[in-house]
Amino acid sequence: ANPEQAQLLKIHAEATKLYHHVLVNTPAGKLALQYLTQRGMTVDLINQFELGYAPDLGADKQILHEYAQKAGFDYQLLRKSGLFVERHDGQLRDRFHGRVMYPIKDSHGQVIAFSGRIFGKKASANTPKYLNSPETDIFNKRRTLFNLNLAREAAREVGHLTLFEGFMDVISAYGAGVKTGIASMGTSFTSEQVQIIARQVKQLNIAYDGDEAGQAAIDRALKLVEDTAPNLNLRVVQLPAGLDPDEYVQKYGAIKFQDYMEHREETPVDFRLSYLRNGLNLKKQSDLIAYLKAALQVIRVIPDPLGQSVYLKKLATEFGLDQGSLERQLAELPQPQVVTPPPIEDNGEIPHGFDPPP
Ligand code: ATP
Ligand code: MN
Ligand code: MN
Ligand code: MN
Repeated sequence: ANPEQAQLLKIHAEATKLYHHVLVNTPAGKLALQYLTQRGMTVDLINQFELGYAPDLGADKQILHEYAQKAGFDYQLLRKSGLFVERHDGQLRDRFHGRVMYPIKDSHGQVIAFSGRIFGKKASANTPKYLNSPETDIFNKRRTLFNLNLAREAAREVGHLTLFEGFMDVISAYGAGVKTGIASMGTSFTSEQVQIIARQVKQLNIAYDGDEAGQAAIDRALKLVEDTAPNLNLRVVQLPAGLDPDEYVQKYGAIKFQDYMEHREETPVDFRLSYLRNGLNLKKQSDLIAYLKAALQVIRVIPDPLGQSVYLKKLATEFGLDQGSLERQLAELPQPQVVTPPPIEDNGEIPHGFDPPP
């Protein structure tokens, strides 16, 4: 880190301590603490993830700005930190007010940004549920994965990372003993993040929310990984309808969650074959034919013939069809194009906060 980046890391470290202190030790943090406790967050998790609270103490009170000025941080540095918004007259005001604060860390555990969540009121166009820091010299959203610092340690033991949708999913899963969880910033998962993951592990499990948006996002994420890092093994864990991983933990507890995550993983092909059924009524002949055609397209892409025949057999059995005729149908489809993706770039350059490949 250059001197300016070092200062940016320092203000983030200070802000983390301040927000955490407000949450756990002050009356101003009481409601926020209650909110987190009601959500099942334990003291251990709040401390481990250094969760905090950015209070809303009225327009005249800018708690972080006052603190940073007293601590002697330079005005230009504060402007560039993303932690403040600038008024027309150049005055800086805290960006985060009345939000539970989730520090976002780089792979070494240094805080590089925040996400702040509202509570006790409804989100709106001006008040998003989660407000993230803007990009800065130390925060590149496309390259950042929440909790990678802890998850990569856990991944060394179990051999995979687990991609969740939200920060709360990662934290709850961690508390429930599934410590391999990471999340992208917001819902978009990027090729840069895929490359970073591929340098750490051989397998990625995707466990997005059990709703339509989650399923559609799984479908996109699978495609992105296949295009970016074809050697990274993929598994999908579909959550029960209407639940996200955090809600699953709250509802069924840690043991059931661990069990679910371990035993419900399926291959991308299995996921796609079930995803294709959405909105179809397979008792209707036209829907069934449409489904079988789409399913054959999915199966066609499986590289080895043995894998193909396993899935063909499943289809044949389920719908009482002749496996041989499915095989002939498959053979008549045009061969998939083999696309050779570019190798994962390794130009020796170390993106901020991330380790070079081993
Ligand atoms: P919670 O349980 O606190 O409601 P969640 O993680 O279940 O949060 P989702 O609505 O499932 O929230 O969204 C998944 C993720 O998408 C969030 O964790 C957050 O990272 C991101 N996200 C959601 N809403 C916003 C928003 N308005 N702005 C930026 N990111 C958002
Ligand atoms: Mn969601
Ligand atoms: Mn969710
Ligand atoms: Mn949730």
